[in-house]
Amino acid sequence: MRPGSARVLACPHCQAWQRCQALDFSYRQQVEVWSDLRVVHAFWHTPAEVVACGACGSLFRKADAERVGRLPSSVDELDFRMKDGWRLLPRFGKARELALLERYLAVPTILPLDLAAVEAALRLSHAGHPEDEIDLRLQLWRLHNDTRRRHQGASWRRLEGDFHDNLGRLLSLLATGDEFLDLLAAEIYRELGQFPAALQRLARVQTLYGHEKVALMNWSLAARRELLIYARG
Ligand SMILES: [Zn+2]
Repeated sequence: MRPGSARVLACPHCQAWQRCQALDFSYRQQVEVWSDLRVVHAFWHTPAEVVACGACGSLFRKADAERVGRLPSSVDELDFRMKDGWRLLPRFGKARELALLERYLAVPTILPLDLAAVEAALRLSHAGHPEDEIDLRLQLWRLHNDTRRRHQGASWRRLEGDFHDNLGRLLSLLATGDEFLDLLAAEIYRELGQFPAALQRLARVQTLYGHEKVALMNWSLAARRELLIYARG
């Protein structure tokens, strides 16, 4: 079984089709997921709401894009080889469905925003919508953390002030009551070394993300603040 399924979306600006390969955390078998929920994988991407169109370059919210179709999630229908990309298995479906799937497979992938794009978006109109600002600041947080993941000490030292400014603003925006945001707030507090606050936010995560909650609790109780990778489950 593959972890989730990829959707095909149409850009709201130019209508170009593209594949959204954001990981569904509920089905993340064998995919490397870091404590800030950065996904490191050849196929699956870190979930993000504000993305850039691969054709026209405009930013859009995925929720605003028309959903054109969905690739099957079962390995019985579709196989995936890291080196070769997608490959339809011979036993799959009818000719008409096959032609449509081949069209989906041929479209480019939505690309995640880089640091400059996120910073520019935060300066522009996207920062005017609270939900977009949260999404962009979560992306900024992971991009800052990427320099630590890559052991780029000099880059990290240059970004450290921005990192703290961003997290301060982010924590003021991450209201409690949404378990996903509570989990992320707990991880931010853990990275900042504020372990009681991390445990307090984790107490609000009660129905979802049990695997991640237990890991974050153990790391917080052990006063560990470095970036860590969740055990694959
Ligand atoms: Zn476009």
